[in-house]
Amino acid sequence: MRTRMYKRTLACLLLCLLARGAAAAALVPIDVPPLEGVEIVQRFGTDPARPYMPPAGVIDHPRAPSYAVDAARPDTAPLPAYRIGPDTWFLFGNIAEVDPVNRGFNGNAGFIVTDEGVVVIDALGTPYLGRRLIATVRAVTDRPIRYLVITHAHPDHYYGAAAFAELPGVRIISHAGTEKYVHSSTIQHSVAYRKVFLPREMEGFKAVVPDLLLGGGHPARLTLKLGGKTIDIYDVGHPHSHGDLVVHQVEDKILWVSDLAFNGRVTFLGDGNLREILPMQTWVRRQFPDLALMVPGHGAPQTPPFAMLDFTSNYVQALLERMRALYAAGHGLQEAVARADLPDYAHAPLYELNHRINANHVYRLVEEEAF
Ligand SMILES: [Zn+2]
Repeated sequence: MRTRMYKRTLACLLLCLLARGAAAAALVPIDVPPLEGVEIVQRFGTDPARPYMPPAGVIDHPRAPSYAVDAARPDTAPLPAYRIGPDTWFLFGNIAEVDPVNRGFNGNAGFIVTDEGVVVIDALGTPYLGRRLIATVRAVTDRPIRYLVITHAHPDHYYGAAAFAELPGVRIISHAGTEKYVHSSTIQHSVAYRKVFLPREMEGFKAVVPDLLLGGGHPARLTLKLGGKTIDIYDVGHPHSHGDLVVHQVEDKILWVSDLAFNGRVTFLGDGNLREILPMQTWVRRQFPDLALMVPGHGAPQTPPFAMLDFTSNYVQALLERMRALYAAGHGLQEAVARADLPDYAHAPLYELNHRINANHVYRLVEEEAF
């Protein structure tokens, strides 16, 4: 199964597919009240008692930031950013769930500066943070922002896109799955949840339907040529979300792998298609054999041999094997999830938050396999 998927994916990626025309990005109001009557216990948020942001040099940095966003600061205040290549900048998000301290800055973003303009990768977790990301670009260059690439439509990468949609001349690119997500009940629940912590930043929230959507069921590549740089954007299917992209800076040998691999954090498997994860990681290894740097959606940028790919795929493989064994031994869902612990990964941040959800998700897939 895995080999077949890999071949199909590779064949499709040889095509260059540009899915939609030049319509402007649309803003869709997601007008839901905050969750009420639900007790939300925060156990994996950002600890304000131990503030930390690396002073410099984030590549292969072993420690995650603990950074409180001060929402009283104007949205023209830049966020901390690190130069990770001659023209490439990186914003280092907290490794945490969204909370009133990180205020949605719990994923990475970055941007590439060229003579003809700027390409931004991911938009952070609220329109306010999106505006501060724009201010961060402005602190580095006065060249116009030409493109925003949303690697996938999870809140920490995507909800800041509304700030970019209000800038003239910015084209927003994402996976076709983003449009489906905008019209799903999942986004309503997600926005209601965020409003509990971020009532001001999420007030009047609008979801962006990008003006360029890749995919629609056919893995594809879109190439941007800008200021002497080649930037390939690949649709890699649905391994992690409703639709995932990776971004390759060809000359710079940098791959923005997004949430296909996590550096120093357990992955979340609830939304994507588990069957696509391992083949797509194999594809990444083969497609980009001479990368200098891999930038994940969570955790520090990493140099070869990219231990984060192995960490993520080994976890997924181990969980799959465990759930298959528990199913074969006749355990029902609840019993199997209770026995799903993987001690080798229990030390990793967000294990406790995500592992049971992941085990639940994988058990259901194993059950499907049996029919
Ligand atoms: Zn993420």
